[in-house]
Amino acid sequence: MTHPTISKSKFLSGIQCPLLLWTQYNDRGIIPPTNAGTQYIFDMGHSVGDLAKQLWPNGVEVPAGGADRPDLDATVATTREYLKKRKPIFEASFVSDEPGGRRYVRADVMLPVLGEDRWDLVEVKSSTRTKDVNIWDVAFQAGAIEGAGVKLRRLSLMHINTSYVRHGPIEPARLFATDDITDLARNRMRDVPRMFAEYAATIDGPKPVVPIGAHCVSPYTCAMKDVCWNHLPEHHVTTMVRAGKKAFDWVERGIHDVADIPNRDLAGSQRVQKDAVKSGRAVIDQKAIHALLDSLEYPLWHLDFESVNPAVPLFNGTRPFQQVPFQFSLHVEEAPGAEPEHIEFLSVDSNDPRPALLEALSQIGPYGTVLAFNATFESQVLATLGMTFPEWKPMTDDLGARLRDLADPFRTFSVYHPGQKGSYSLKSVLPALTGAGYEGLAIADGQAAGRQWLQAVYKPGLPESDREGIFEGLRAYCGKDTGAMVEILEVLRGMI
Ligand code: SF4
Repeated sequence: MTHPTISKSKFLSGIQCPLLLWTQYNDRGIIPPTNAGTQYIFDMGHSVGDLAKQLWPNGVEVPAGGADRPDLDATVATTREYLKKRKPIFEASFVSDEPGGRRYVRADVMLPVLGEDRWDLVEVKSSTRTKDVNIWDVAFQAGAIEGAGVKLRRLSLMHINTSYVRHGPIEPARLFATDDITDLARNRMRDVPRMFAEYAATIDGPKPVVPIGAHCVSPYTCAMKDVCWNHLPEHHVTTMVRAGKKAFDWVERGIHDVADIPNRDLAGSQRVQKDAVKSGRAVIDQKAIHALLDSLEYPLWHLDFESVNPAVPLFNGTRPFQQVPFQFSLHVEEAPGAEPEHIEFLSVDSNDPRPALLEALSQIGPYGTVLAFNATFESQVLATLGMTFPEWKPMTDDLGARLRDLADPFRTFSVYHPGQKGSYSLKSVLPALTGAGYEGLAIADGQAAGRQWLQAVYKPGLPESDREGIFEGLRAYCGKDTGAMVEILEVLRGMI
């Protein structure tokens, strides 16, 4: 028996999947490194945590340690000292002995209850609400703290208040909302020791055999997904459009390929997807293509925005997680098939990008269709810009009214190529229809574009050449999106 130390993140891994937990202790090397998107979420969580600490300016912080680090016992000893001060403590660390192992936690915030020998526990999250998994998180922590002999009164979760609107410096007292989850967490605390013993036995036992399932993406996308899912056939049932958890029912029934799903289980576009896989040919409904092409008026303005939506609003008048556009690309087609002209805008400093972006958008002339791919996003961005900058509202309303969606025939599966594998995103449709995708681009998806832009305009000390490299990558990526729209439209024209 190894008598493992289980931190709260490992405990949550145990809830998600025994194979994930076992691998973290026994075969860690096969877990792919944290990708840039996940790292960004971690970093966002840290900066939100730092803001929360400003609510208790007299707080003291226990220096970093962790279940995987040798100074674990030092963090616990420091916490013991700090508890005597009866001040708010950040990252208070506790160890409790459990059947089969040790429980280790670092609590975000502990607040002394005035006139009592008790503490309030506050867990800080960068999410917008308390989630079920957060209750387990707090239950696990509270058990360890009480197991170490410290009495707790209230257990709560602090998360982002989405109705907060930034005006001037960030006001942490308004940025956060707090949910009292004492009863919910205490109910679960009863189950934690049993679960802990089970997870300790899993860690010490043989490698568990766990089939893929909904647990691979909930409550978190598993770090092992690329490992466990890499053997799946090209048209695995998890690629079936709008299948959700039903895909795993098929897996349990031994059905792995889209072509083998019984027709009675499928509706509408799902049937189209299966037929396309079986025949190996694209499905083309010419009526739907005509409907789209006939609705277009030239010149055509192929438009795509890139945006950021940080948890902590960057600019006055914005809310947490609000999409703020910092870039757009326009390909302008004067007539069907004419060589397009390219216009672009990219904000290259840390000022609010929206006023200059609106000015640049006014290059869109008064006539013609504004075309976007999955246009709901562009429509929402335009509407929000118009509300925030009323002087531009006539223009944003006009552009919104002229907006058409190039994704329409793909969303309805009126046009579907088996290479799309159930997706109607631009990144799936382009290679399926043209054979060429986003290969070779330094920035190849919208999330990366937002992260990279934030780095380019905010990272202190970033060398100028790196900044320029990011801007070059952003221009290439956004331009590729609207260039792809031109190509896809050309392919659609050729289908009728
Ligand atoms: S990908 Fe799924 S099966 Fe594999 S370890 Fe993660 S949760 Fe478990």
